[in-house]
Amino acid sequence: MEQTLLQLNQLSKSYGRLKAVDQLTITLKKGNVYGLLGPNGSGKSTTLGMVLNVVNPTSGSFQWYQGALDTHQALKQIGAIIERPNFYPYMTALQNLNLICKIKQCSTDSIQEKLELVGLWERRHSKFRTYSLGMKQRLAIAAALVNDPELLILDEPTNGLDPEGIHQIRALITKIAEEGTTILLASHLLDEVEKVCNQVIVLKNGVKYYEGPVDGITQTYGYFELKAKNLEALESFLKEIDEVETVEKNTNGLKAVLNAPLASEELSEKLAKAQIFVTHLAKKKPSLEDQFLSLTQNQ
Ligand code: ADP
Ligand code: MG
Repeated sequence: MEQTLLQLNQLSKSYGRLKAVDQLTITLKKGNVYGLLGPNGSGKSTTLGMVLNVVNPTSGSFQWYQGALDTHQALKQIGAIIERPNFYPYMTALQNLNLICKIKQCSTDSIQEKLELVGLWERRHSKFRTYSLGMKQRLAIAAALVNDPELLILDEPTNGLDPEGIHQIRALITKIAEEGTTILLASHLLDEVEKVCNQVIVLKNGVKYYEGPVDGITQTYGYFELKAKNLEALESFLKEIDEVETVEKNTNGLKAVLNAPLASEELSEKLAKAQIFVTHLAKKKPSLEDQFLSLTQNQ
């Protein structure tokens, strides 16, 4: 069994009457890339702030390393970027990282490796203020990695970047994960979480709506759109099919939502055998965006 790095138990944070995070229970195990996914204001940063000891929980608890380490000790073993990168503008990347190592009381030996990893070794002697936003963000990731953390926490690391910068950061996160670092990535972007993460926790208004493999939110059997002269006969026939979960009438005819795989050929064969002839039959899949919205809206 993989080691549990972080466990949240009904962790909550209220600001006055607003429940920013509401009884959140999650388990982070070593070796995964977790996406903390939710629209703006859903409580992602507040959650990260609590486990990083910068926000006081209202109730509930969290445990690092199954209680083997207290939060203070645990935080020395993780890397986190929860704000815009903040370095000394007139110091070079190398000077900034040397200073970070002093503050973190870790060896400077890995600085070259980390700067190479984020693609900034060539630019190590450039002053921080001359860096693009994407380079600043990559330097922040290098800084978070100098102590070889087991867990890297990132809060919306691609916000404000241009498409190339976004691509570089996502590729970098994937590379860091492949080297064995566990990652917790907060993002409001479904496609980012889908590209980078293997596990996802979906938050809305501080409440968890889904926790599990990324494939799980994207897995669906789709639905059929059908039309026929005799809609009533079609409808009652569809309702008898095992693979059909629900049948709805709309302006386009009928929508039959599936709860198991069913191919178009199989369905048209069944219909033909029952002497039901359709004028339209199309198989559809809801987009990822639709599924994410229905996860966070309907419940
Ligand atoms: P996210 O990171 O998902 O965008 P946040 O955790 O920043 O969401 O915020 C969750 C909710 O808590 C929001 O409604 C936000 O306005 C509120 N909030 C966050 N920090 C504070 C604060 N210091 N004081 C009052 N309300 C806050
Ligand atoms: Mg946030």
